[in-house]
Amino acid sequence: MFATLSDKLDLVFKKLRGQGVMTEDNVKDALREVRLALLEADVNFKVVKDFVEKVRTRAVGTEVLQSLAPGQQVIKIVHDELVLLMGGSEDNSLDLAAKPPVAIMLVGLQGAGKTTSCGKLAKYLKAQRKKPLLVPADVYRPAAIEQLKVLGRQLDIEVFNSLASQKPLDICREAHRYATLNGFDVIIYDTAGRHQIDDYLMEELEGIRDELAPRETLFVADAMTGQEAVNVAQGFNDRLGITGVILTKLDGDAKGGAALSIKAVTGKPVKFVGLGEKLDALDVFHADRLVSRILG
Ligand code: GDP
Repeated sequence: MFATLSDKLDLVFKKLRGQGVMTEDNVKDALREVRLALLEADVNFKVVKDFVEKVRTRAVGTEVLQSLAPGQQVIKIVHDELVLLMGGSEDNSLDLAAKPPVAIMLVGLQGAGKTTSCGKLAKYLKAQRKKPLLVPADVYRPAAIEQLKVLGRQLDIEVFNSLASQKPLDICREAHRYATLNGFDVIIYDTAGRHQIDDYLMEELEGIRDELAPRETLFVADAMTGQEAVNVAQGFNDRLGITGVILTKLDGDAKGGAALSIKAVTGKPVKFVGLGEKLDALDVFHADRLVSRILG
């Protein structure tokens, strides 16, 4: 799509060759293409509107560089502004600067990839010489406890022995005590999800958050769900004050626009992206890579 958008803009700007600056009129048609491309990539319409306005302001009156065709020049402005919107070169690394064991809580809807991401994150932290403890705190779906235990065995990382008969808050308290006594640096909590946000779930998660005071509350978003992921992220952020996002399933054909919108709408950064079902398919997020995916 990068080539397509680029080609389209070159076509739009054909008339402009030989002129010195881009004008309101020249830029107008190009911005229509940019707007469509972003909507097609599933970027939230309000985010698109504000964004296009910003690009318009920057593009109009810009001198046409000798070295670039005007279409490419607009693409460059769009690229740079999108990267800025995603946080630019902001440090998106995990904040683990607290007295160990540092709590990380993963939240999100069922099927988003929470349990898998817990395993991936534990593997990532182990590679950084941390000693993570995985804690299943989803007692409504007993298979989730087993799923995390299986992941733990694969990774040779300890999984707290939660029981489906326990209350999530009790599991969390006991896990914290256990981790403190046994010298774990980080505790990763896998919390329950639902098919949609409901009050009961949120109250439970608020209780866990208040108890654990997690250093990181990461919202796990399924990139394939597009705009819905943005609404859900906002819901979780309003209630729990998330600190960041893990965007999963970017290996599918999701365009990634939802990710960009999540950051723009909640103000919280994407910290990691999931790129497959395997446990090493987790990447630290880079804004420019996602932007290239959206534009290309
Ligand atoms: P949870 O209900 O939020 O705990 O979700 P799970 O961790 O059980 O994941 C749901 C499904 O999504 C599983 O089949 C995972 O293998 C799959 N999954 C998770 N993350 C990714 C990812 O980044 N890419 C792909 N392709 N699949 C993923």
